[in-house]
Amino acid sequence: MYCLGIESTAHTFSCAVIEKKQKNGKILSDVRKIYKPPEGEGIHPREASRHHIENSSSVLKQCLDEAKIKINDLDMIAYAGGPGLGPCLRVGAVVARSLSSYYDIPIYPVNHAIGHIELGKLLTGAKNPLVLLVSGGHTMILAFSSGRWRVFGETLDITLGQLLDQFGRSLGFASPCGRKIEELANKSTNYVDLPYVVKGNDVSFSGLLSAAKQSTSKGVQDACYSLQETAFAMIAEATERALAFTRKNEIMIVGGVAANKRLSSMLEDVCKRQKAKFFVVPLNYAGDCGSQIAITGIRESSVYPGAKMKDTFVKQSWRLDSVDVLY
Ligand code: AMP
Ligand code: MG
Repeated sequence: MYCLGIESTAHTFSCAVIEKKQKNGKILSDVRKIYKPPEGEGIHPREASRHHIENSSSVLKQCLDEAKIKINDLDMIAYAGGPGLGPCLRVGAVVARSLSSYYDIPIYPVNHAIGHIELGKLLTGAKNPLVLLVSGGHTMILAFSSGRWRVFGETLDITLGQLLDQFGRSLGFASPCGRKIEELANKSTNYVDLPYVVKGNDVSFSGLLSAAKQSTSKGVQDACYSLQETAFAMIAEATERALAFTRKNEIMIVGGVAANKRLSSMLEDVCKRQKAKFFVVPLNYAGDCGSQIAITGIRESSVYPGAKMKDTFVKQSWRLDSVDVLY
Protein backbone atom coordinates (compact mmCIF):
# COMPACT_ATOMS: atom_id res chain seq x y z
CA MET A 1 0.00 0.00 0.00
CA TYR A 2 1.44 3.38 -1.08
CA CYS A 3 0.60 6.72 0.54
CA LEU A 4 1.53 10.11 -0.89
CA GLY A 5 2.04 12.76 1.82
CA ILE A 6 1.89 16.47 0.92
CA GLU A 7 3.31 19.08 3.32
CA SER A 8 2.83 22.82 2.76
CA THR A 9 2.09 24.41 6.15
CA ALA A 10 4.80 27.11 6.07
CA HIS A 11 8.20 27.41 4.35
CA THR A 12 8.41 23.88 2.94
CA PHE A 13 6.61 22.27 0.02
CA SER A 14 7.28 18.56 0.20
CA CYS A 15 5.94 15.32 -1.21
CA ALA A 16 6.82 11.87 0.11
CA VAL A 17 5.77 8.31 -0.62
CA ILE A 18 5.62 5.78 2.21
CA GLU A 19 4.93 2.11 1.62
CA LYS A 20 2.91 0.50 4.40
CA LYS A 21 4.51 -2.71 5.62
CA GLN A 22 2.41 -4.55 8.22
CA LYS A 23 2.45 -2.21 11.23
CA ASN A 24 5.32 -0.16 9.86
CA GLY A 25 6.11 2.13 6.97
CA LYS A 26 9.09 2.47 4.66
CA ILE A 27 9.95 5.89 3.24
CA LEU A 28 10.46 5.43 -0.52
CA SER A 29 11.01 9.11 -1.33
CA ASP A 30 10.84 12.50 0.37
CA VAL A 31 11.43 15.55 -1.83
CA ARG A 32 11.42 19.11 -0.42
CA LYS A 33 11.67 22.66 -1.72
CA ILE A 34 12.09 25.33 0.94
CA TYR A 35 11.09 28.98 0.54
CA LYS A 36 13.85 31.25 1.83
CA PRO A 37 12.84 34.81 2.78
CA PRO A 38 15.33 37.65 2.20
CA GLU A 39 17.99 38.05 4.96
CA GLY A 40 16.62 39.66 8.11
CA GLU A 41 12.96 38.97 7.12
CA GLY A 42 10.39 36.36 8.16
CA ILE A 43 8.09 34.22 6.01
CA HIS A 44 5.74 36.26 3.82
CA PRO A 45 2.67 33.98 3.42
CA ARG A 46 1.84 35.19 -0.10
CA GLU A 47 5.43 34.77 -1.32
CA ALA A 48 5.72 31.35 0.32
CA SER A 49 2.47 30.17 -1.29
CA ARG A 50 3.68 31.43 -4.67
CA HIS A 51 6.88 29.43 -4.13
CA HIS A 52 4.80 26.33 -3.36
CA ILE A 53 2.61 26.78 -6.45
CA GLU A 54 5.67 27.16 -8.68
CA ASN A 55 7.40 24.08 -7.25
CA SER A 56 4.48 21.72 -6.60
CA SER A 57 4.48 19.83 -9.91
CA SER A 58 8.27 19.32 -10.08
CA VAL A 59 8.41 18.17 -6.43
CA LEU A 60 5.52 15.74 -7.02
CA LYS A 61 7.11 14.36 -10.20
CA GLN A 62 10.52 13.88 -8.56
CA CYS A 63 8.87 12.24 -5.54
CA LEU A 64 7.02 9.67 -7.67
CA ASP A 65 10.12 9.05 -9.85
CA GLU A 66 12.33 8.41 -6.81
CA ALA A 67 9.71 6.06 -5.33
CA LYS A 68 9.53 4.33 -8.75
CA ILE A 69 5.73 4.45 -8.87
CA LYS A 70 3.02 6.15 -10.98
CA ILE A 71 0.11 8.25 -9.65
CA ASN A 72 -2.24 5.34 -10.42
CA ASP A 73 -0.27 3.11 -8.03
CA LEU A 74 -1.16 5.34 -5.06
CA ASP A 75 -3.66 3.87 -2.60
CA MET A 76 -4.19 7.08 -0.62
CA ILE A 77 -3.22 10.74 -0.46
CA ALA A 78 -2.65 12.61 2.80
CA TYR A 79 -2.14 16.37 3.05
CA ALA A 80 -1.42 18.74 5.94
CA GLY A 81 -4.81 20.27 6.80
CA GLY A 82 -3.28 22.58 9.45
CA PRO A 83 -2.13 24.25 11.57
CA GLY A 84 -0.22 26.65 9.36
CA LEU A 85 -0.36 29.66 7.06
CA GLY A 86 -3.67 29.76 5.13
CA PRO A 87 -2.27 30.57 1.65
CA CYS A 88 0.40 27.88 2.00
CA LEU A 89 -1.98 25.22 3.35
CA ARG A 90 -4.36 25.80 0.46
CA VAL A 91 -1.69 24.93 -2.13
CA GLY A 92 -1.14 21.46 -0.64
CA ALA A 93 -4.88 20.91 -0.22
CA VAL A 94 -5.61 21.86 -3.84
CA VAL A 95 -2.91 19.50 -5.16
CA ALA A 96 -4.27 16.68 -2.96
CA ARG A 97 -7.90 17.31 -3.93
CA SER A 98 -7.13 17.49 -7.65
CA LEU A 99 -5.23 14.20 -7.64
CA SER A 100 -7.79 12.53 -5.41
CA SER A 101 -10.82 13.48 -7.50
CA TYR A 102 -9.22 12.92 -10.92
CA TYR A 103 -7.65 9.55 -10.08
CA ASP A 104 -10.31 8.49 -7.56
CA ILE A 105 -7.87 7.98 -4.67
CA PRO A 106 -8.97 8.24 -0.99
CA ILE A 107 -7.91 11.52 0.64
CA TYR A 108 -6.92 12.23 4.28
CA PRO A 109 -6.45 15.71 5.81
CA VAL A 110 -3.98 15.27 8.69
CA ASN A 111 -2.74 17.41 11.55
CA HIS A 112 0.83 18.57 10.89
CA ALA A 113 1.86 18.50 14.56
CA ILE A 114 0.65 14.93 15.01
CA GLY A 115 2.67 14.20 11.86
CA HIS A 116 5.88 15.25 13.64
CA ILE A 117 5.05 12.82 16.46
CA GLU A 118 4.07 9.88 14.22
CA LEU A 119 7.20 10.24 12.10
CA GLY A 120 9.33 10.48 15.25
CA LYS A 121 7.80 7.25 16.57
CA LEU A 122 8.30 5.48 13.23
CA LEU A 123 11.96 6.47 12.97
CA THR A 124 13.07 6.17 16.60
CA GLY A 125 11.01 3.18 17.76
CA ALA A 126 9.75 5.08 20.84
CA LYS A 127 6.57 3.34 22.10
CA ASN A 128 4.77 5.62 24.53
CA PRO A 129 6.94 8.70 24.98
CA LEU A 130 6.56 12.05 26.62
CA VAL A 131 6.99 14.23 23.53
CA LEU A 132 8.77 17.55 23.28
CA LEU A 133 7.55 19.18 20.06
CA VAL A 134 9.76 22.16 19.30
CA SER A 135 9.57 23.85 15.90
CA GLY A 136 8.76 27.12 14.15
CA GLY A 137 5.06 26.64 14.95
CA HIS A 138 5.07 24.70 18.23
CA THR A 139 6.56 24.48 21.70
CA MET A 140 4.63 21.79 23.54
CA ILE A 141 5.21 19.00 26.01
CA LEU A 142 2.76 16.18 25.24
CA ALA A 143 1.71 12.75 26.44
CA PHE A 144 -0.86 10.40 24.95
CA SER A 145 -3.80 9.65 27.23
CA SER A 146 -7.42 8.52 26.63
CA GLY A 147 -7.42 8.89 22.85
CA ARG A 148 -5.73 12.26 22.53
CA TRP A 149 -2.34 13.94 22.82
CA ARG A 150 -2.60 16.00 26.02
CA VAL A 151 -0.57 19.12 26.73
CA PHE A 152 1.57 19.11 29.90
CA GLY A 153 3.29 22.41 29.21
CA GLU A 154 3.59 24.87 26.32
CA THR A 155 4.73 28.35 25.42
CA LEU A 156 2.57 31.23 26.56
CA ASP A 157 3.74 33.45 23.70
CA ILE A 158 6.27 32.79 20.90
CA THR A 159 7.64 29.33 20.07
CA LEU A 160 11.22 28.18 20.57
CA GLY A 161 11.76 28.30 16.79
CA GLN A 162 10.39 31.86 16.63
CA LEU A 163 12.65 32.88 19.53
CA LEU A 164 15.74 31.66 17.66
CA ASP A 165 14.63 32.95 14.25
CA GLN A 166 13.56 36.41 15.47
CA PHE A 167 16.77 36.78 17.46
CA GLY A 168 18.84 35.70 14.45
CA ARG A 169 16.97 38.03 12.11
CA SER A 170 17.65 40.97 14.45
CA LEU A 171 21.33 40.24 13.77
CA GLY A 172 20.66 40.20 10.01
CA PHE A 173 20.87 36.42 9.57
CA ALA A 174 18.73 34.61 6.99
CA SER A 175 15.77 32.68 8.46
CA PRO A 176 15.67 29.90 9.69
CA CYS A 177 18.50 30.86 12.06
CA GLY A 178 18.64 27.98 14.57
CA ARG A 179 21.67 26.24 13.07
CA LYS A 180 23.69 29.47 12.76
CA ILE A 181 22.91 30.39 16.40
CA GLU A 182 23.99 26.89 17.49
CA GLU A 183 27.32 27.30 15.64
CA LEU A 184 27.97 30.67 17.28
CA ALA A 185 26.88 29.39 20.70
CA ASN A 186 29.43 26.57 20.45
CA LYS A 187 32.20 29.19 20.40
CA SER A 188 31.38 30.62 23.85
CA THR A 189 31.05 29.49 27.45
CA ASN A 190 30.52 32.97 28.86
CA TYR A 191 27.00 33.21 30.28
CA VAL A 192 25.37 36.64 30.44
CA ASP A 193 22.32 36.91 32.66
CA LEU A 194 18.98 36.62 30.80
CA PRO A 195 15.40 36.32 32.13
CA TYR A 196 14.35 32.75 32.91
CA VAL A 197 10.54 32.53 32.86
CA VAL A 198 8.68 29.32 33.75
CA LYS A 199 5.09 29.82 34.93
CA GLY A 200 3.49 26.69 36.35
CA ASN A 201 4.65 24.23 33.73
CA ASP A 202 4.50 26.72 30.84
CA VAL A 203 7.32 28.81 29.43
CA SER A 204 7.42 32.39 28.16
CA PHE A 205 10.06 33.49 25.67
CA SER A 206 9.10 37.03 24.61
CA GLY A 207 10.91 38.83 27.47
CA LEU A 208 13.92 36.60 26.89
CA LEU A 209 13.93 37.62 23.21
CA SER A 210 13.98 41.36 24.05
CA ALA A 211 16.75 40.90 26.64
CA ALA A 212 18.82 38.68 24.33
CA LYS A 213 18.61 41.29 21.55
CA GLN A 214 19.94 43.93 23.97
CA SER A 215 22.74 41.65 25.16
CA THR A 216 24.35 41.34 21.71
CA SER A 217 26.28 44.57 22.33
CA LYS A 218 28.44 42.56 24.79
CA GLY A 219 29.31 39.97 22.12
CA VAL A 220 27.26 37.97 19.63
CA GLN A 221 28.69 34.54 20.52
CA ASP A 222 28.07 35.09 24.25
CA ALA A 223 24.50 36.22 23.47
CA CYS A 224 23.83 33.10 21.34
CA TYR A 225 25.30 30.85 24.03
CA SER A 226 23.32 32.50 26.82
CA LEU A 227 20.09 32.49 24.81
CA GLN A 228 20.37 28.74 24.15
CA GLU A 229 21.35 27.93 27.75
CA THR A 230 18.42 29.90 29.17
CA ALA A 231 15.69 28.81 26.74
CA PHE A 232 16.71 25.14 26.74
CA ALA A 233 17.04 25.03 30.55
CA MET A 234 13.47 26.40 30.84
CA ILE A 235 12.19 23.70 28.48
CA ALA A 236 14.22 20.99 30.23
CA GLU A 237 12.82 22.00 33.63
CA ALA A 238 9.21 21.83 32.39
CA THR A 239 9.86 18.55 30.57
CA GLU A 240 11.40 16.95 33.66
CA ARG A 241 8.39 17.94 35.76
CA ALA A 242 5.99 16.57 33.12
CA LEU A 243 7.96 13.31 33.00
CA ALA A 244 7.77 12.88 36.76
CA PHE A 245 4.04 13.72 36.72
CA THR A 246 3.01 11.46 33.82
CA ARG A 247 5.38 8.64 34.86
CA LYS A 248 6.33 7.98 31.24
CA ASN A 249 9.67 6.26 30.82
CA GLU A 250 10.62 7.67 27.40
CA ILE A 251 11.29 11.20 26.13
CA MET A 252 11.20 11.93 22.39
CA ILE A 253 12.13 15.29 20.82
CA VAL A 254 10.61 16.16 17.43
CA GLY A 255 10.31 19.29 15.24
CA GLY A 256 12.95 21.46 13.60
CA VAL A 257 14.65 22.55 16.85
CA ALA A 258 15.25 18.84 17.66
CA ALA A 259 18.28 19.25 15.36
CA ASN A 260 20.04 21.16 18.15
CA LYS A 261 22.73 19.10 19.95
CA ARG A 262 22.76 21.22 23.11
CA LEU A 263 19.01 20.76 23.58
CA SER A 264 19.46 17.00 23.21
CA SER A 265 22.29 16.91 25.73
CA MET A 266 20.19 18.77 28.34
CA LEU A 267 17.29 16.34 27.83
CA GLU A 268 19.63 13.36 27.98
CA ASP A 269 20.64 14.60 31.43
CA VAL A 270 16.95 14.74 32.39
CA CYS A 271 16.53 11.13 31.18
CA LYS A 272 19.56 9.96 33.20
CA ARG A 273 18.19 11.56 36.35
CA GLN A 274 14.68 10.14 35.81
CA LYS A 275 15.81 6.75 34.45
CA ALA A 276 13.99 7.27 31.16
CA LYS A 277 15.02 6.39 27.60
CA PHE A 278 15.96 9.24 25.29
CA PHE A 279 14.92 9.47 21.61
CA VAL A 280 15.44 12.24 19.09
CA VAL A 281 14.11 12.28 15.53
CA PRO A 282 16.95 11.89 12.96
CA LEU A 283 18.33 15.24 11.78
CA ASN A 284 17.10 14.87 8.19
CA TYR A 285 13.50 14.34 9.38
CA ALA A 286 13.42 16.95 12.19
CA GLY A 287 12.06 19.75 9.98
CA ASP A 288 8.81 19.80 7.99
CA CYS A 289 8.51 17.07 5.34
CA GLY A 290 6.01 14.98 3.37
CA SER A 291 6.92 11.82 5.32
CA GLN A 292 5.30 13.12 8.54
CA ILE A 293 2.05 13.61 6.62
CA ALA A 294 2.21 10.28 4.77
CA ILE A 295 2.79 8.20 7.90
CA THR A 296 -0.08 9.92 9.73
CA GLY A 297 -2.37 9.24 6.76
CA ILE A 298 -1.37 5.57 6.89
CA ARG A 299 -2.16 5.41 10.61
CA GLU A 300 -5.59 7.01 10.01
CA SER A 301 -6.38 4.65 7.13
CA SER A 302 -6.53 1.81 9.67
CA VAL A 303 -9.64 3.38 11.24
CA TYR A 304 -11.48 5.19 8.42
CA PRO A 305 -11.72 5.00 4.62
CA GLY A 306 -10.89 8.65 3.86
CA ALA A 307 -12.58 12.06 3.94
CA LYS A 308 -15.53 13.22 1.83
CA MET A 309 -14.45 15.99 -0.58
CA LYS A 310 -16.59 18.54 1.34
CA ASP A 311 -14.52 17.80 4.47
CA THR A 312 -11.15 18.40 2.83
CA PHE A 313 -10.76 21.76 4.54
CA VAL A 314 -7.70 23.57 5.84
CA LYS A 315 -7.63 25.00 9.37
CA GLN A 316 -4.98 27.59 10.20
CA SER A 317 -5.39 27.05 13.94
CA TRP A 318 -5.88 23.34 14.50
CA ARG A 319 -4.59 22.34 17.92
CA LEU A 320 -3.41 18.77 18.14
CA ASP A 321 -5.08 18.28 21.52
CA SER A 322 -8.46 18.72 19.76
CA VAL A 323 -7.85 15.70 17.48
CA ASP A 324 -9.29 12.27 18.39
CA VAL A 325 -6.60 9.69 17.67
CA LEU A 326 -8.51 6.44 17.15
CA TYR A 327 -5.82 4.17 15.65
P1 AMP B 1 9.99 23.26 11.52
O1 AMP B 1 8.96 24.35 11.76
O2 AMP B 1 9.65 21.97 12.20
O3 AMP B 1 10.38 23.07 10.09
O4 AMP B 1 11.32 23.77 12.26
C1 AMP B 1 11.98 24.96 11.86
C2 AMP B 1 12.67 25.58 13.06
O5 AMP B 1 13.77 24.75 13.48
C3 AMP B 1 13.25 26.94 12.76
O6 AMP B 1 12.81 27.84 13.75
C4 AMP B 1 14.76 26.72 12.83
O7 AMP B 1 15.48 27.86 13.25
C5 AMP B 1 14.86 25.59 13.82
N1 AMP B 1 16.13 24.86 13.73
C6 AMP B 1 16.65 24.22 12.67
N2 AMP B 1 17.89 23.73 12.96
C7 AMP B 1 18.16 24.08 14.26
C8 AMP B 1 19.27 23.90 15.15
N3 AMP B 1 20.37 23.24 14.77
N4 AMP B 1 19.16 24.43 16.38
C9 AMP B 1 18.05 25.09 16.78
N5 AMP B 1 16.99 25.30 15.99
C10 AMP B 1 17.03 24.81 14.74
MG1 MG C 1 6.65 21.68 11.72
